[in-house]
Amino acid sequence: MSDVADTATETASLMVSDLDHYRYALRRHLASTPELTRFRGRDHVTTEERIAGDAELMAALAGNGGWNLYGWPERIGGLGGDERHRGIFYDELSRAGLPVPEPQLLLETLCPAVTRFSPHLTEQYAPAYLRGEEWWGQCFSEPEAGSDLASLRTRAQRQGDHYVVSGQKLWTSHGATATRLVCLVRTGTTEARHRGLSMIMLDADSPGVTVRPIALASGDNELAEIFFDDVLVPATHLVGEEGQGWAVAMFLLQYERAMYAWQSASVALRRISQLRDLVAEQSGPLPDGALRRLGSCYVDIVTLRARSSETVRRLAAGEIVGPEASVDKVLLAAAEQGLHDLARDLLGPQFLLSDSPRMRAWRAEWWYSRSATILGGSSEVQRTILADHVLGLPKEVVR
Ligand SMILES: Cc1cc2nc3c(=O)[nH]c(=O)nc-3n(C[C@H](O)[C@H](O)[C@H](O)COP(=O)(O)OP(=O)(O)OC[C@H]3O[C@@H](n4cnc5c(N)ncnc54)[C@H](O)[C@@H]3O)c2cc1C
Repeated sequence: MSDVADTATETASLMVSDLDHYRYALRRHLASTPELTRFRGRDHVTTEERIAGDAELMAALAGNGGWNLYGWPERIGGLGGDERHRGIFYDELSRAGLPVPEPQLLLETLCPAVTRFSPHLTEQYAPAYLRGEEWWGQCFSEPEAGSDLASLRTRAQRQGDHYVVSGQKLWTSHGATATRLVCLVRTGTTEARHRGLSMIMLDADSPGVTVRPIALASGDNELAEIFFDDVLVPATHLVGEEGQGWAVAMFLLQYERAMYAWQSASVALRRISQLRDLVAEQSGPLPDGALRRLGSCYVDIVTLRARSSETVRRLAAGEIVGPEASVDKVLLAAAEQGLHDLARDLLGPQFLLSDSPRMRAWRAEWWYSRSATILGGSSEVQRTILADHVLGLPKEVVR
């Protein structure tokens, strides 16, 4: 028994210390495990089916070799390593024709910040997330507070050992099925703006929480609006200190933007090669400029990847990337929208009219790509962040 345990420990430490070893061992596993075949070539399905299927994939990878546990600290259920392991994981999934599980985006967004500011919460809940048994939602935006988060109004008032949360959140990705919600709330005065905010994690099935799914233009219930009506949350569920919410949010947003950019490039590289194959299969001449546009789109994706590699290396080294992650976010929005506009143009009438699952998937992704310039902070706001906080340009004079 102890020999088996020793071998497992040795394997894990080799995977952590040698990135190439992890990459090639993972690649072999993904190529040679029949159990994973059913996750390949997924055509368009509803959000609920997609998330449930993705959670099963996470469970299958965690249960047989712990492949998705590398890159996460052992104390929260991981097997050690850093952001580079997670980057390799997403690349290899895409390379193997497997989906990047959707709950991984919110895991990337939320887990590093919660681990940094309130490790007891990720020690308790992240192991189940990594095994695909639960996933979380990020409740920042409100009807009157999206770009201007410092004006948010959802309130949390301390009463003894609890906070009482009341208000409304909007556009919560995966909110309809999430188990836990990480919410930016107001604990101070409205005038205090960002200094009056705190972060708190609550159970989505707490009494007083009402979740209403929002159907997107594609028909998917991807998002939700969530109402909090005097929801009691233990004070131990604060992420960081009371009043520290803005600092937690800023730490979190760099991960959201940076790791989303990496995931997006991993998937886009697979999708552009699938698009190339589809275009090559079509009878008749290619539309004017098709090859030039394919090349230009590929360059955009590779540019995103080049930038993102640097950002992921910096995060792995423990650096604060901060506002510079807005570069990754702007590049990812351009690459994602460029790819899907190209697919729409090159796939011709079948893109609009075919009811095949494959074309429905391209159409749904085109719709979703419209949001790339909005979610995680709009492109206009990202450019303003770059002007103010990275380039240090003088403020614009509004006449
Ligand atoms: C698919 C999708 C998923 C999302 N998931 C989540 C989630 O999981 N959790 C969450 O909390 N939120 C989520 N959001 C919400 C997202 O973060 C907000 O939509 C975004 O921050 C913009 O806020 P808003 O919609 O209120 O638009 P507004 O802030 O009202 O902006 C409207 C327009 O004005 C522009 N604008 C605003 N302020 C400025 C400025 N200072 N300078 C220049 N232009 C400006 C914006 O660029 C935009 O074009 C999601 C949104 C989408 C579309």
